[in-house]
Amino acid sequence: MSEQNFDLVVLGGGSGGYAAALRAVQLGLTVGLIEKDKLGGTCLHVGCIPTKALLHSAEVADVSRESAKYGVTTSFEGIDMAAVTAFREGIVASKFRGLQGLIKARGITVISGEGRLVSPTTVQVGEDTIVGKNVVLATGSYSRSLPGLAIEGRVITSEQALELTYVPKKVAVLGGGVIGVEFASVWKSFGADVTIIEALPHLAPNEEESVSKQLERAFRKRGIEFSLGVRFQSVTQDDSGVVVTLENGTTIEAELLLVAVGRGPSTAGLGFEEAGITMDRGFVLTDERLATNIPGVYAVGDIVPGLQLAHRGFQQGIFVAEEIAGLSPIVVDDLNIPKVTYCDPEIASVGYTEAKAVAKFGADKVSSYEYSLGGNGKSSILGTTGSIKVVREVDGPIIGIHMIGARVGELIGEGQLIVNWEAYPEDLAPLLHAHPTQNEALGEAFLALAGKPLHA
Ligand code: FAD
Repeated sequence: MSEQNFDLVVLGGGSGGYAAALRAVQLGLTVGLIEKDKLGGTCLHVGCIPTKALLHSAEVADVSRESAKYGVTTSFEGIDMAAVTAFREGIVASKFRGLQGLIKARGITVISGEGRLVSPTTVQVGEDTIVGKNVVLATGSYSRSLPGLAIEGRVITSEQALELTYVPKKVAVLGGGVIGVEFASVWKSFGADVTIIEALPHLAPNEEESVSKQLERAFRKRGIEFSLGVRFQSVTQDDSGVVVTLENGTTIEAELLLVAVGRGPSTAGLGFEEAGITMDRGFVLTDERLATNIPGVYAVGDIVPGLQLAHRGFQQGIFVAEEIAGLSPIVVDDLNIPKVTYCDPEIASVGYTEAKAVAKFGADKVSSYEYSLGGNGKSSILGTTGSIKVVREVDGPIIGIHMIGARVGELIGEGQLIVNWEAYPEDLAPLLHAHPTQNEALGEAFLALAGKPLHA
């Protein structure tokens, strides 16, 4: 039994928590970082990094199938899941080692164990009492299911999907959002038959509608099936597979059902409510400066309502550390955070969709331009189609950028600078993009919006 005192206690060592800890020690604060499992959290161990490793294996599979088109003779012989797993685990292990080394080198005290908030300044970890002048809650999220839909046997979440040691012959995916379409894309490339079930009218339903429609066309072309605008009703399973029944009476037979219907906040039983923190359906409510209603207690990452993304967690972690150190950092609105869906084709976006912009500012105050990647030389070389759509306020700045096509995730960095800096197409149009790059498609859209299209 011991008591340890810090300037800052961080509960949870995932993207949000470890970023808060790293920035706080840089600013001269002493930090106790409590983690019950592995530093790095969901993103490093069961989220962003391992799924992108899988997607890379999937891309290599597709390239090997199509290599003759590029004049290279090779053949696709199949997927060696043991090697896929070794590749994925190797990447995660090396990033994990790096993170552990960084945390140690920066002088952060890591306390291993499950923490529970017992007062606004105190976290209990087993017999130990950890006291902070300030506390950051960063306990992350878990894969949610639907009422009555048990995760068991052949009904799995993304965590079990990552651990599969074989390629299923046929998979049903419940949820056409970011996690659902990423796994659907991987499994299709690995040779499985895939059917996605989405209750809303489109795949990737939070994206620009033209992007969602292009994704649907591309998935259809790849042979990925989907049922849109229809709700899941029930599932039965036996030794050979699952039978999923939809509300419209359709049934889908598959080997597995992946449930990808979103993630809930991991806050139950951690003492937050008892400490007087205002919560909403398990999420911790904060003001825009990430302060809870209890002075000195902050929250970051997936437990704070809004986008559940690792880079939002990093940004919020840095923000609260600076806030606590008295630096008054700038608030970044969720709207201006870039989002990438890493399926094939990739989707990337930032800012308002056209529909949301029209709803907010009025149809006469919004204009947009969509440039087809068909007109972009580098995209043709890469063999990708897709588009880049730029939304602006009439006579005003760019307020949204929406892309679909191979590797567009690498282009959204420019997009988020433009939206966050409220740049005007007229100012961007004369600035150059190297030729031939996919970035040029952004440049073409700026030229068109500035009234001087080049290749459009
Ligand atoms: P977490 O990373 O979940 O970390 C919370 C930590 O707190 C965990 O380590 C947990 O063990 C610990 N903890 C919880 N309770 C306690 C306790 N009581 N005591 C001590 N420790 C505790 N985001 C992206 O930006 N890009 C992507 O490509 C992407 N891909 C994803 C793919 C999948 C399959 C999934 C599931 C998620 C993906 N995400 C992605 C989302 C991203 O992983 C999360 O947004 C991010 O991890 C949230 O960070 P966090 O710090 O809030 O929580």
